[in-house]
Formats: sequence, structure tokens, C-alpha cells
Amino acid sequence: MNTVFVNGELIDRDKAKIDIEDRGYQFGDGIYEVIRVYDGSTFTMKEHMERLYQSAEKMKLSIPYGEEEFTSKLLKLIELNGIGDGIVYVQVTRGVSPRQHHFPAKDVAGSVVAYTKDFPVPVGQMENGVTAKLVEDIRWLRCDIKSLNLLGNLLAKEEAASNGHFEAILHRGDTVTEGSSSNAFIVKDGVIYTHPVTNLILNGITRRVIESLCGKNGIMFQEKTFSVTELLGADEVFIASTTSEVMPVIEIDGKVIGEGKPGAVTKRLQSLFSERIGIETR
Ligand SMILES: *Cc1c(COP(=O)(O)O)cnc(C)c1O
Repeated sequence: MNTVFVNGELIDRDKAKIDIEDRGYQFGDGIYEVIRVYDGSTFTMKEHMERLYQSAEKMKLSIPYGEEEFTSKLLKLIELNGIGDGIVYVQVTRGVSPRQHHFPAKDVAGSVVAYTKDFPVPVGQMENGVTAKLVEDIRWLRCDIKSLNLLGNLLAKEEAASNGHFEAILHRGDTVTEGSSSNAFIVKDGVIYTHPVTNLILNGITRRVIESLCGKNGIMFQEKTFSVTELLGADEVFIASTTSEVMPVIEIDGKVIGEGKPGAVTKRLQSLFSERIGIETR
């Protein structure tokens, strides 16, 4: 049986229903998180839950449960569904009310949905690397909120995927921001560069784990913007997200990056990342 969480209840997937006037459905007026599960244990769950509440605050959205209560509900769901390697998807919308742009009355409760999914670690792609396409970043100016409104991200990913690429790497003019659903990094002369935490990127939890691993292991890490030219001329490029972990990018827009295979710094980070997973999910 596949159980899902809908507004406080654990019910069968096939019985789950959302109202057509839900603001998430009508406006994308909500937020979400994707949390990793490895061998039945969550990874960086606290960080994801904290970001969910931060996104909520930035959107003036209220989550009907406290963080601890919500977390334990999600852990229950993971256990019920017997998830080994997988994810839990969580979304909160501004609830159900007649369609109008301004917010509904305060007593309209948010809608909360969560479900689990099996998701194996993408070992083949992590070992061999993936290709990417450059796409202009046309998103709005609050990319720091993990909002359901993903149209700009979807259009970019579709442009990449329909051309056979794993990810779209976004740039605002000459400056590389991030991937359509990942953060982007380059390695040049042994130093890792990634876009600083501003309103123009989503501050990924995976990105933060990488930053901490670099700090602990003497790998130079700089939050500094880089250009499209610097991206294409980098020694190594990788992207990072909850489901992609540390994913080498070996070719962008047909241009081979470095030696055209996962580089030494990327591979070192991959192994440090696996080690961290082992420690945290023990
Ligand atoms: C979720 C997301 C990321 C990656 O964040 P993680 O917490 O590492 O999964 C990066 N960029 C965008 C646009 C995202 O939506």
C-alpha cells in the first residue's frame, strides 16, 4: 500500500483528493521540499524543515503544524511506506478559497501534502558525468524561496531535456546563477566557486553540505560569481542537489569541460559526501 499525508491524515494514495480551488493548484501559491532518504533514514532533514519554515515566512504563509510535530509525521510516513533509498516530497499551499489574487482570510488553513517515492542513487550518472545546456535565467527575483511557482525552471529544464541533456545551467546575462533544480559549481586551479547566497539562487542544502565538507577537508571554497566564459573554461564543473548529490558535468553546449570526464576534486567531494551520508544515517 502507498500511504500519503493529506491535511493531517494518512490515507491511501488513490483516495487522496485536492480541491480545485486550492491556491497551490490555481496559482502555485505554496512551497515545497524534497528530502532524501537513504536506507530508511532521512538525510539533513532538520535543514530541509528549517528551510520550509523560512520559505513559508518569506511568503507570509502559515504552516498548520510546528516543526517537530511535522517532522515526526513525515518520519511516520517514511516508515509506513517502508522506504529504503527514496525521497519524501512535502508541499504546503495557502489553502482553499474562491479564486482571488489577494490572500484569503487568516482562518483559511494551509493545505499540506506529503508523499514518499523510491529513488535509487544515480550511480551511473555520478560515475560517468552528465551533459548540460546553457539557458538564460528568466526567473523572478525571489529564487531564494522554494516556491511551487517553477515555470521559469520548467521551461529551462525542458529546453535541456528535449535536447538530451541532464540539466539546464542558468545565466543572467553573463553571470551563471544555478541549475534549473540544482546549484552549479566550477573548479579552477583547485578552488571551487559557486554563486553567493542571494535572492538569485536557492540556497541548496546539498550546497551547504559541500561547503562544510570543503571547510573540514582543506578544499578551497569560494562564494563568488563566475561568468559563462569561466564556466566553459573551468577545469571541472559539477551540480548539486538532494537527488543528484555531487553530479559531474562533463560537457556544456557541446563544449567538453576539462578532460571530458569527472575531475579529481569532484570525485573527492563525491567520496566525502558518501562518507557524510554514512555518518548521518547510521
Ligand atoms: C531545490 C533546489 C536546489 C537544490 O537544493 P537542495 O536542497 O540541495 O536539494 C537548487 N536550485 C533550485 C532552483 C532548487 O529548486
